Amino acid sequence: MNRAIYGIHHVTAITSNPQRNIDFYVNILGLRFVKLTVNQDDPSSYHLYYGDELGRPGTILTFFHWPDAPKGHRGASEVMAASFLIPETSISYWMDRFESKQIKFRGPYKRFDDEEVIVFHDPDGLELELVAHKSSETRSINVWKEGPVPIEQAIRGFYSVTLSEEGYERTASVLADELGFIPTLQDGSRFRYEIPTRESHRRGEDDGGANIVDVLCLPYTQQAVIGIGSVHHVAYRTPSDEQQKVLRHNIIKAGLNATPVIDRFYFHSVYFREPGGILFEIATNPPGFTVDERAEDLGTHLVLPPWLESMRKELLEVLPPVQLPKKNEMQHTTEE
Ligand code: ZN
Repeated sequence: MNRAIYGIHHVTAITSNPQRNIDFYVNILGLRFVKLTVNQDDPSSYHLYYGDELGRPGTILTFFHWPDAPKGHRGASEVMAASFLIPETSISYWMDRFESKQIKFRGPYKRFDDEEVIVFHDPDGLELELVAHKSSETRSINVWKEGPVPIEQAIRGFYSVTLSEEGYERTASVLADELGFIPTLQDGSRFRYEIPTRESHRRGEDDGGANIVDVLCLPYTQQAVIGIGSVHHVAYRTPSDEQQKVLRHNIIKAGLNATPVIDRFYFHSVYFREPGGILFEIATNPPGFTVDERAEDLGTHLVLPPWLESMRKELLEVLPPVQLPKKNEMQHTTEE
């Protein structure tokens, strides 16, 4: 048994329209656009990354730009919703904000004892939630300060993800036995798993947030179609390459197929499909998004991995043009 997972690292979904995607996540939700790059497996399409001011693990939402993918359909065996954490006092701010921006939402609903949840969708139909919970107080505040949302109300990274499964037991055993999640709560068909807070969290190495996975048990439900507006995979974070190696070894020992370690440049990744069919990833916290850009430049221009830099001109001809959030002028002048 190991305890090397700290929580969610990132969630990756599929979009049909990079500009509309950037406008929604930056201008409506107030996330920082931390990286514009290309899909390593298909460099003629974008890979977009959002997060807190540095795109720290636990706050990262990424998108594959796949305009020709089918439209996604909700069902069993997918990450059904990704939930962001907001302060307990921020529910009315976000309801007003969504109303004024004409974003449809449902709720707020009560979930378990101490959560208030607003459900909404991005322009591609991806299901998202804002969860107001007191744990926002202990989450380090690294929100993007140049964003359109006041810091007090801003999204504090992920709170949880919800997995839909026809039966939950086999998924639950992978979450518990291989990844170190502990079953904590149940409400009807929603089963909650959490990574307990560790000593290292209190020492500030990792704020310990984004540590919840809910499994929604949906028997006799059609399989989801993963496409535009769906989550492609969820990644869990581990602090080091050594820990990742141990996790990979244990996953294989449990009879699951895991990929070799893949260098994703901003983190190192291992992928495997959990028994219910959802694609899981184990990603390392280091090195992060400042490995190839200064913190103040994040997300302000197209970044290519070194091995694709010689193809920049050709790639720019096939990639659709996008308008990026402007670099902060003040930071720029103090830097010079
Ligand atoms: Zn990933």
